[in-house]
Amino acid sequence: METSKKKTADSKFNLRREEIPPEFHDPFIIRGYRRPYLSFKDCLKSSVVFSCNESFNILSHFFSFLFFITIFISYFKTELDITDVKTWPLALNVIGNIGFSFMSTTAHTLNSMSIEARHKCFYLDYAAISIYTYCSGQATFYYSRALFSEKEFFKNSYYFNIGAMFISIMSTLLNCLSRRKWHSSKYVIRTMAYVTAYVWNCVPYIYRLMICNNPLDCNKSGLYLSLLSALTLLGAGVLNITKFPERFYPGKFDCCGQSHNLMHVLVTLGCFFQLEFVKHEMLRGISQGFNYESSLHLTIFTVFVSLLIAAVVPANDDKDINYKKK
Ligand SMILES: [Zn+2]
Repeated sequence: METSKKKTADSKFNLRREEIPPEFHDPFIIRGYRRPYLSFKDCLKSSVVFSCNESFNILSHFFSFLFFITIFISYFKTELDITDVKTWPLALNVIGNIGFSFMSTTAHTLNSMSIEARHKCFYLDYAAISIYTYCSGQATFYYSRALFSEKEFFKNSYYFNIGAMFISIMSTLLNCLSRRKWHSSKYVIRTMAYVTAYVWNCVPYIYRLMICNNPLDCNKSGLYLSLLSALTLLGAGVLNITKFPERFYPGKFDCCGQSHNLMHVLVTLGCFFQLEFVKHEMLRGISQGFNYESSLHLTIFTVFVSLLIAAVVPANDDKDINYKKK
């Protein structure tokens, strides 16, 4: 009885690379694949089958999702007042974290339903990450820029916001298209899109530290949080491009410890440090020239366009129909 149950589980959740179509392959991962065209219920079930190579990815970002909800509650239950407009960039930053963790959990759970579902799931995942990078950029700009700069770029949020919006929308578009073309460099494209957003988001803080001439702007007490965030996110990017360790030890880290698993953990940590950094900077005192309401329409536009791109970039594939007929 036990043996037949295990056989059924293995035939659904623990296939070898050569047993499934190439569209469902992950680089250097040999076994633990789910059978393509699984039902919704079986996809959910696979999250707790630890011989499956997606379980860790599903559970790690599901725990991140719960973690960031807890952070949101802990920030706004007693410590901060959500009706105060000065806390809105921070609130949107945490909502961005919750959104991308949820979307990543969904994408990793449902990506074996079909080739089309696999593409669409990850399109939405990319859109959610791009929306998050836009939201975290807003928080960094409003809380960590120089308060007394004469430069128009730092006095007026318009220029920074337009740049952040453009990067966010282009990231979604390029990442979605990288699933259909540019196959040999897709991981570099995806990583570099988010590195560009990250660098753009750091500009206000770096500039402030370079030109500071008053105690408020010269306050570097949050620098260690910013560096911790940069280092962990850099580590995540390097793993995503190099595919370490599975590239060098094929078959050893299929179900636990592969680069994507480690990347999920590092991304959650990096985003947590980034959140703590912007909260720390917010408490520095930012009352001067604070007009976040004027940026809200661009935030809504960025969210709308990113989701629209994920919806309209084609995901259908003739191979889906052929495989189903087999
Ligand atoms: Zn992932």
